[in-house]
Amino acid sequence: MRTVSTPSGAAMPALGLGTWRLGEDASLRAAEVAAVRSAIAMGYRLIDTAEMYGDGGSEEVVGEAIAQAIGAGEVRRDELFIVSKVLPHNASRKGTEQACARSLQRLGLDRIDLYLLHWQGSHPLRDTCAALQALAARGEIGEWGVSNFDVDDMADLNALGEGKACAANQVYYSLSERGPEFSLLPWLRKHGQPLMAYSPIDQGTLALDAELGEMAARRGVTAAQLALARLLAEPGVVAIPKAVREAHLRENLAAADLVLTPEEVAEVDRLHPPPHRKTPLAMI
Ligand code: NDP
Repeated sequence: MRTVSTPSGAAMPALGLGTWRLGEDASLRAAEVAAVRSAIAMGYRLIDTAEMYGDGGSEEVVGEAIAQAIGAGEVRRDELFIVSKVLPHNASRKGTEQACARSLQRLGLDRIDLYLLHWQGSHPLRDTCAALQALAARGEIGEWGVSNFDVDDMADLNALGEGKACAANQVYYSLSERGPEFSLLPWLRKHGQPLMAYSPIDQGTLALDAELGEMAARRGVTAAQLALARLLAEPGVVAIPKAVREAHLRENLAAADLVLTPEEVAEVDRLHPPPHRKTPLAMI
């Protein structure tokens, strides 16, 4: 799997597994754990979760799947890159550390590789940064980053001394929402920070895009794979599609190895043009 470097040199797999909507329904728990475990078995190494998802349920599902996979010798902990997020209303100096402790407990881990502020709330960024730095100093998190930060927010963060340690920004970025390419992605590239693309298949919609599907069929792939491959063709981008169905998991993982020709990139761009002006960062 190709990796993208964070500013400290940590290697993030370019494609990971999203887990929003997991852990919401106890009757689906066993099937969801099996899906995440099967993802690990087929080669997924980055898993994205959050305290918000299923009110902690997603972290529990991920934790159970990791424990099973490690117990069965299918993967080592140090091969996995686990991402979780603190909710803005918890992101005070003390609250961030407490939220992280709860996430670690649910995940059954002693370290989260990348811990993100889910979006900016009312707690001063300086306090959140101080807590994140303390967590990193204690080794409870590997690195920290943010989510749903537009280019001005990144500049504000960077202006704080501690903000310079930010390792990544996770935002809504798909072929239907290419706004981040205008100024946010260039800003992140300049600062060596990966852009993690959430909802990269636009929550499943792009898999049904007829024109993309027609083009994909000529190449012997699917519309979803083409949508992911186009994002991953952008330097510094990591994509985290969510899937529980085995066929979806396999398709998406294979998209990480799909290299588009310049002609194919141009054809996708005619169907879903890149932005020509700054638009406010969209959020799901
Ligand atoms: P995605 O764009 O990843 O789409 C997920 C949906 O697409 C699911 O219904 C899935 O079905 C379906 N799907 C997946 N692969 C395929 C495929 N190859 N062909 C057809 N359909 C497919 O949407 P998400 O909103 O889930 O975003 C991904 C992840 O990003 C989230 O799970 C979460 O981890 C993160 N996220 C972060 C946010 C933030 O604020 N930081 C906000 C939103 C998301 P099925 O599951 O049935 O296989």
